[in-house]
Amino acid sequence: MPRRVRAAARTRIRRFTALAAATAVLSAAAVTASAHAEPPSPQTRGTARPAHVADSQTVESFRPSGPTGHRTGVPTATPEDAVAPHTALGAEESAADGRVSALRRTGPSAERLDLVLVGDGYTADQLADFHADAEAQWAEVTAVEPYGSNTDKMNVWTVDAVSNESGVSGDPSQDVRRDTALGSYFWCDGLERLLCADLDKVNTYAAQAPAADIVMVVANSAKYGGAGYNRLTGYPFDGVSTLSSDNSASGLIAVHEMAHSIGRLADEYGYGESGTYQGPEPEDVNISTYSAQEMAQRQTKWHTWLGKDDPAGGQTGTFEGAGYYEKGLYRPTETSLMRDFSVREFNNPSRQGLIDGFARYTNGG
Ligand SMILES: [Zn+2]
Repeated sequence: MPRRVRAAARTRIRRFTALAAATAVLSAAAVTASAHAEPPSPQTRGTARPAHVADSQTVESFRPSGPTGHRTGVPTATPEDAVAPHTALGAEESAADGRVSALRRTGPSAERLDLVLVGDGYTADQLADFHADAEAQWAEVTAVEPYGSNTDKMNVWTVDAVSNESGVSGDPSQDVRRDTALGSYFWCDGLERLLCADLDKVNTYAAQAPAADIVMVVANSAKYGGAGYNRLTGYPFDGVSTLSSDNSASGLIAVHEMAHSIGRLADEYGYGESGTYQGPEPEDVNISTYSAQEMAQRQTKWHTWLGKDDPAGGQTGTFEGAGYYEKGLYRPTETSLMRDFSVREFNNPSRQGLIDGFARYTNGG
């Protein structure tokens, strides 16, 4: 790209936030003025920051190996220096930008969990690749129970996001910067495997779909990485996960993150908090302050599962170390998808939590 074009693009980006609202108004006016005008693509429409959205978010990521996840605070918007300056799409690319397709439609959105997949780092010529990658990610998710036997409770949508460059920033190395639709970048917060995206841009694209409960950002990359944004407030969906298109271990991050959002499940690893948990009994269905004996006596939490064979291995019981504490909180099994990725199974209480979660969505909740 010529230098002066890049410079102009950089100036545009600096002014972008201030102009976003005005641009949206102008775009709306243009559509009203001409009934035959094409609706503006998400990139020209500008990104919208809903009210009450903070400048930073808590995300969770996982190392390629090792027992635990990691939580950290990251910017809601992609920092300018993490990616290449954005240039406007050509007319042909704009026409394809923001196109919605139904990958699976099982019923009305009000009675379904609507999963929306948006690609990043796919050029206009690579949108067929994105659709193939979206199918593959859906297959990864539904290979895990109880997602597989509850596909009739989900709609799955894809939204085409056209990027000027193929691949995402930070792949393969930190100095690589690309101009992509969602501003995805590895080395987020200095962590190589932490793949962040610009949430306002994600929101703009996800809004093209009929409804979004959970959003999955599929980055065009083979590098291991991902992230889960599960404590979002102000956005019209319950969670966003990012993952690499061509890395199967990366797909498990999305399986785990969706479980936080759908089943309201807690993490079953002890990492990050020191000492012994002293707080009240948590609301999460898969962690508890009670030992198996106390749980049985009180007839609470997963007492009905105690001693039963568990798909995650062994029998359901109480194992100390959960909810970021090594001591004072118990989890149902030695390992599970809410603890690490050594097994591709949720334990009995988490499966039940997910099934109850699906019911919440199908009942219009
Ligand atoms: Zn987690």
